[in-house]
Amino acid sequence: MRELARMNTLETGNDPAALGDRTAPLQKRSSNDDATDRQLQLLIGLVVVLAIGVAALDVLHAVTTRTAIPNPPALILIYAFSVISYRFKIEIRIRSSHNGSTWGDVPIMVGLVLVPMPWVVLCVIAGMATVRIINRADPLKSIFAIAKEVLVISATGATFLVLGTRPGVDHPNASVLAVTVAYLVLWLVDDLVFHPVIAVASRSTIGKVFRNDLGGRVFVRLATLATVIYIIEVLVSGTSLFLLAFVPVLVGCAHLWRLRRLRTHQERDSWRQLADTTDELSSVDLNQVLHIAAAQGTKLFSAGEVEIDLTASGVDRVVRAGLDGVSYDGPGPRKFDGESSITTELETRDRSYHAGVLVLDFDGKIKLTEFEQYKLKTFASALCTAIRNAAAYAELRRISEQNAYDAAHDPLTGLANRRELYERADEYFAGRTEDGVVALLLIDLNHFKEVNDTLGHAAGDAVLREVARRLDDAAAPGDLVARLGGDEFAVLLVNLLTPALATHRAEQMLSALETTLEVEGMQITVEAAGGIALAPGSGGINELMRRADVAMYQAKRAGQQTATYAHAQDTADVERLMLGGELQRAVAKHEFVVDFQPIVDLGSGEVIAAEALARWQHPEYGYLTPMQFLETVERSGQLPAFADAVLDQALAASGGWREAGFDLPVAVNVSPRSLLDPRFPATVLTRLARHDVAPERLVLELAETLTISQLDTVGRALDELREAGVRLALDDFGTGVSPLSVLSHIPVNQLKIDRVFVTSVETSSEAAAVIRSTVDLARSLHLTVIAEGVESEPQRLALWELGCVAGQGHLFARPMASARMLATLQRGSGGRPGALAAAMHDAGAVVRMPRRRRSSGGGRSAG
Ligand code: C2E
Ligand code: CA
Ligand code: CA
Repeated sequence: MRELARMNTLETGNDPAALGDRTAPLQKRSSNDDATDRQLQLLIGLVVVLAIGVAALDVLHAVTTRTAIPNPPALILIYAFSVISYRFKIEIRIRSSHNGSTWGDVPIMVGLVLVPMPWVVLCVIAGMATVRIINRADPLKSIFAIAKEVLVISATGATFLVLGTRPGVDHPNASVLAVTVAYLVLWLVDDLVFHPVIAVASRSTIGKVFRNDLGGRVFVRLATLATVIYIIEVLVSGTSLFLLAFVPVLVGCAHLWRLRRLRTHQERDSWRQLADTTDELSSVDLNQVLHIAAAQGTKLFSAGEVEIDLTASGVDRVVRAGLDGVSYDGPGPRKFDGESSITTELETRDRSYHAGVLVLDFDGKIKLTEFEQYKLKTFASALCTAIRNAAAYAELRRISEQNAYDAAHDPLTGLANRRELYERADEYFAGRTEDGVVALLLIDLNHFKEVNDTLGHAAGDAVLREVARRLDDAAAPGDLVARLGGDEFAVLLVNLLTPALATHRAEQMLSALETTLEVEGMQITVEAAGGIALAPGSGGINELMRRADVAMYQAKRAGQQTATYAHAQDTADVERLMLGGELQRAVAKHEFVVDFQPIVDLGSGEVIAAEALARWQHPEYGYLTPMQFLETVERSGQLPAFADAVLDQALAASGGWREAGFDLPVAVNVSPRSLLDPRFPATVLTRLARHDVAPERLVLELAETLTISQLDTVGRALDELREAGVRLALDDFGTGVSPLSVLSHIPVNQLKIDRVFVTSVETSSEAAAVIRSTVDLARSLHLTVIAEGVESEPQRLALWELGCVAGQGHLFARPMASARMLATLQRGSGGRPGALAAAMHDAGAVVRMPRRRRSSGGGRSAG
C-alpha cells in the first residue's frame, strides 16, 4: 500500500507533492504508516464504489432514454484524443520525473458535447486503459485513476444535461456559458476526489496540497478551458473545420511553457535541497556526515536506497539508508551493484582525494538526466570533501588527545607522570578541587638497582610495570598514582576523613607490593619505603614533596615500611637542619669550594684535564666531602645554586690556568636532578660566556645511574648542550644500569672507568676484561676512556697495556685547590712543566711525548 501511495504521488497528473519533499512523508515506517495506509485504502475504495454506482446510473440513463449509438468516427476521435493526451502526459512525467499537465480534459469536454455521456466514459476509459496497458502501469493505481475519471465525466455530463445541452455530432449546441460551467464542475470534482487522496498519501493537509503549484494548475485549467471553448465554438458554429488545425499548435505552446516552468521550479528546488544538504554535511563528525548524506541522498535523487562505501586509507565501511533512514552501518561489502543502481566515485573535484563510492539504487533500471548527473557529481564531491574534512578533524583530535595523554603519562607504566601530579596538586592548593583532606605518599623501591643489574633492564621495566599495576589497583577512587621517574612513585591520597587515615591508606598500598612477583620465571620480592606527608597550609606541592621525601628517608633509614612527616623530627634532624637554613647560608657565604684533580696522559704523565670536585667548608663540621652532603643538597631546593657555584669556580679556575699557559679542559660533575631542570642548559651556557671559556673546554660528567625513564628528558637537555659544543662524559662507567642503552640515548664523548675495576685491574681477569671491552667500545664509538682511582704504577701500566691512555688518581695527585693545581702544573715533573709523572718507557709514549709545552694541555686532550 505504501508503494501505491508513492506511485500516486509520482504519477498522477496534477501531483502537488512531487514538487519538493516527495519521499519525506514516507521516510519512517511506524504505526502511523499503517493508519495512513488504511485511510488511503478507505478513500480509494470509496472513490471506486462511487464510480461503479455512477457508471451504473449512466448506463441506466442511457437505456431509459434509449440513447442511440453515435457514429463511429466521433467515438474513434474521442478515443484517439484520449490516448494522445494521456500518453503525452506520461511522457512528460518520465522525462522530468515530475508532474506533467494533462490535456485529458479536452477529449472529455468535446466528447460530452458531441456524443452521449456513456459513450464518452467508454471512449475515455478505453483510451486511458490503452495507455496504461502500454506503459504497464500499476493496476491498483489504474483502477483509482479510471474510477476518478468516471466520476469526473459523469458529473460534467450531468451538468450539461441540467443546463440543457444535448449532445449531437451533427448539431452541437453548447453555449459558452454551459461549457464554462460544466468545465468548472469537472475541475471541482477532479480536485475534490484527488486532493484528499494525495493529502493522505503524502501526509500533508488538503489545504497544503491544494495550494501547491496553484498558479500552474489554474493556468493549465484555463488554457484547457480556452481550448475547449475554441474547439466547441468551431464545431457549433459549423464554420470550417480547418480552424481546428490551430488547436495542436496552441496546446503544444501552452504545454511547452508549462513544462519549462515546471523544470525551472524543479531545478531551483533541487539546488536548494542540495545546498541545504551540503550545509548539513559541514559537520566534523564523520558518523553524522555519512548518515546525513545517505539519508538525504535518497531524497535528493528519489532513490530507493543509497549506499556509501568508504574505502579510503584501508577503511572498510558501508553506510546504507533507505526511505526509513539509515538501515546499516558496518563493514562491507555493499549490497547494490546491479543494473538498477548508479555508482559514483566519491572524489574531490581535483581528484586528489578518493573516499570511496556512492551508490544510488532505484526500483528499476533508470537513466539520469544531464541535470541529475550534474547534481549527483556535485553531491558526490561535496560529500567527499566533507568526509575528508571529518577524517582530518578526527585525526587532529586523535593526535591532540594522544599528545595530551603523553604529556601527562609515564610511557613505561601508563601511570600519571610528575607533571600531572604537580598539576593535580596545584589544583588542590588553588582550592579548585573538592578533594577533602589530602596527603602525599612517596614510594621508593629498595634495591631496585640490583634487579636491573642482575636481570637486565627489560626485567627491571617489568617489575616497575607490575608495581605500577598493583599500586593503581590498591588506590582508592580519586587517588592519583604517579611515577616520578626511576623507581620512585607517588600517590596523592584524597578525601581522607581524618589525617590519621593517611597512614592506614599508605600501609594498604605498600602491602599490595608485598606478595612476590614473577619476572622471567623468577620470583622477586619488592621492598619499598613510603613517606607520608599531609598537605601543608603553605608552600604548595614543593613543600608537600619535600616533606614526603623527608619522611621517606626516615622510613628508609629506620628500615620501616612507612614513616609520616612530623615537623618536630624534621627540624631536630641534623641533616634536615642543613636543609633549612644551612644550605642557603653555605651558598650565600661561598662555603662550597671546589678542588681539582688532574687527569693525566698515562703514557707521558702529562696533565691533559682536571676534574672539579666539590667540598663544603663547614664552619662547624669542617671540610665535608660530597659523600656527606651531596644527597642533602640534591634533596633541598639549593641544588641549582650549588651546581652553579661549582660551575662558576671550575670555569674561573680553567680561565686562570689558561692565562698562565695551561689550557686544560675542566670536568664538572652533574647531578641527574640538575639535568631534569629545564633551565640547566641555559645556566651552563651563560656561565661559559661570562668566563669566556670555549664550550669545548667544559666536560660535564654524568653519573651512569640515570634511569632509563630519565634518559629521554635528560637527552633533550644534553642535546642542547652538545650542540653548543660542550663535551659529555659518562662517569662511573661499568657500574650503571645498562651502559649501552645510556650510550644510545646520550651523545657522550668520554667514558670514565669506575674505580672498582681499576683497583683490581692486575688481580682480576674480570676487571681487566671490563676495561678491555670498554676500551674497544670507546674506540669503535670514537670516545676517550679515562680510568679513575689510579693509585699505583702497576695499575698505570696494566691500564696502558689494555689500551687505556688517560687516568686520574692518587698516583698522580689528590684533589687540590685551584691555586695549588696551577703551582703543581708549573713545577711539573722531571723538569717537565705540565707533567705529573715520568713517561713510561714505551716507544709509543716517547713518540707522543715531545709536542706539548705550556700550550694546549699536551698533544692530546681528554676533551
Ligand atoms: P667521582 O666523580 O667518581 O669522583 C672521583 C672521586 O674519587 C673523588 O671523590 C675523588 O677524590 C676520588 N678519588 C680520586 N682519585 C682517587 C684514588 O686514587 N683513590 C681513591 N680511593 N679515590 C680517589 P670525592 O671528591 O669524594 O667525590 C665523590 C663523588 O662526589 C664524585 O665521584 C662525584 O660523583 C661526586 N661529586 C664531587 N663533586 C661534585 C659536584 O660538584 N657535583 C656533583 N653533582 N657531584 C660531585
Ligand atoms: Ca666524576
Ligand atoms: Ca667516578
